Amino acid sequence: MNIAIAIDGPAGAGKSTIAKLAAKSLGFIYVDTGALYRTIGLCAYRNNICSKDVDAIIKMLEDMKVELAFNENHEQIVLLNGEDVSSLIRTPEISMYASDVSAIPRVRAFLLDLQRNMAKTNNIIMDGRDIGTVVLPDAKIKIFLTASAKVRAKRRYDELIEKGMDVKFEDVLSDVETRDYNDSHREVAPLKPADDSIIVDTSDLDLEQSVEKLLSIMKERM
Ligand code: C5P
Repeated sequence: MNIAIAIDGPAGAGKSTIAKLAAKSLGFIYVDTGALYRTIGLCAYRNNICSKDVDAIIKMLEDMKVELAFNENHEQIVLLNGEDVSSLIRTPEISMYASDVSAIPRVRAFLLDLQRNMAKTNNIIMDGRDIGTVVLPDAKIKIFLTASAKVRAKRRYDELIEKGMDVKFEDVLSDVETRDYNDSHREVAPLKPADDSIIVDTSDLDLEQSVEKLLSIMKERM
């Protein structure tokens, strides 16, 4: 029986960085489900479809194929109709598209089997918004990772600046707050801790401390 660990939480809580390091240390596969919603957002963007046009997005799903794969360094890559779009989906614009399309129930249903199948065949750490509540409700360990909106926006801002993007802190903060609102107020699979999740606030922890904290929770419960 494979072991599944669910890590959920709001944008910029450090889920992907922390989960990636924890997975490496445990020898588990790491799956970032946000990349899937981003890929659907990218597809809409490329086709000039408004991210709030539910009918057009549902129609778009008929002709699109999203796949997850791993490169030689065991890093996740995401394919849109066979094209590796892993870095193209990491822009603030696509973040907002992802947030909008993720509120559409048919989009969530479209991605459900893909996510569940990954957990059937691998020991896995999966991060997202609804992993512990919807995708893998039987996950052995569920962690809800959070931090204050300001701290999360600062982390995102630093990341984008490091990538050479020209962004303003106020805009990043406002994006984080908008996505938090959208993610926690949508009708289907809203962002919320599962009843049996462990809540970890990383506002006052650096990366190393956060990874240590998560690893100690995981090792204790496995
Ligand atoms: O995690 P990341 O910020 O890359 O996710 C992008 C967007 O995808 C989020 O703002 C959220 O709206 C959506 N998402 C989701 N459910 C998940 C993962 C991401 O709704 N499991």
